Amino acid sequence: MLTPALPTQGSYRGRFAPSPSGPLHFGSLVAALASYLAAKQYHGKWLVRMEDIDTPRMVKGADSHILRTLEAFGLHWDEPIIYQSLRHNYYNDVLSELQQQDLIYSCVCTRKAIKLNGGIYTNQCRALQHPADGNALRLRQNHPVLQFTDMIQGTINTAPPLAHEDYIVKRRDGLHAYQLVVVLDDIAQDISHIVRGADLLEPTARQLGLFQQLNKPAPQFAHVPVIVTKPGLKLSKQNHAPAIDQNNPQPALCRALNYLGLSVPQDIAHSRSEDILSWAQNHFNLQAIPAVGELQLDECS
Ligand code: GLU
Repeated sequence: MLTPALPTQGSYRGRFAPSPSGPLHFGSLVAALASYLAAKQYHGKWLVRMEDIDTPRMVKGADSHILRTLEAFGLHWDEPIIYQSLRHNYYNDVLSELQQQDLIYSCVCTRKAIKLNGGIYTNQCRALQHPADGNALRLRQNHPVLQFTDMIQGTINTAPPLAHEDYIVKRRDGLHAYQLVVVLDDIAQDISHIVRGADLLEPTARQLGLFQQLNKPAPQFAHVPVIVTKPGLKLSKQNHAPAIDQNNPQPALCRALNYLGLSVPQDIAHSRSEDILSWAQNHFNLQAIPAVGELQLDECS
């Protein structure tokens, strides 16, 4: 476990970036809390960004439900919320620049074909000049990242075939890919620290490579354990994620803090969310968070 490089007072900018594909569940609350507390501990700003780019997966009204839940838990954001669905011009402009530098090419390989071929795309369409229309666009991986340091999980290695994979930046259906837009928005919002769930540990190397490709400083990353019901099974609506009760946030708040290594004293546990959070801010320590990829729902009480 590593101590994060200390940002200068006030320079910390963190964010929580939910995809509004359903209401906020307990696992996302743990990630939101970790990013909020880290930002507040460094006297930084905490931003919320709606990652509603994958339109077929979005659920109407989920964005406002998530925001109401955050507010009920005392998690108030510091700047206006941005919605990725409104930022296509920005993403297209960056894509055009990459295209002009001959860094983008069309790929006809289906997910099924790649899976049959071992699961990793081996850049076979690079020189084939497929038409752009109806095909996915990939970015030439000129900045493979084989190793990086995560503030919670320590040294993370990426196996060479994956690190060298040219990845999709615009999907066959015309939608911009998460891999591209998450980095573009972290740049646009000047994010200095990303604290999020460990399910996103693997794409981090790729994202660090994109910061390099775009010649921008990369944020520091900290990945908190994902909450699972049994090994490998993330919490979801389908597998009995504990309901988050906006009208009675204290029990879930204390439980979520427990997963982050914080045991809320009884005399504070029934106070307002804001009071519990201000206690948590004073006691939060990234190094107290277990350096594991997942924690089972019953591992804390
Ligand atoms: N929108 C992503 C999710 O909800 C999170 C992306 C990120 O934090 O980088 O899983």
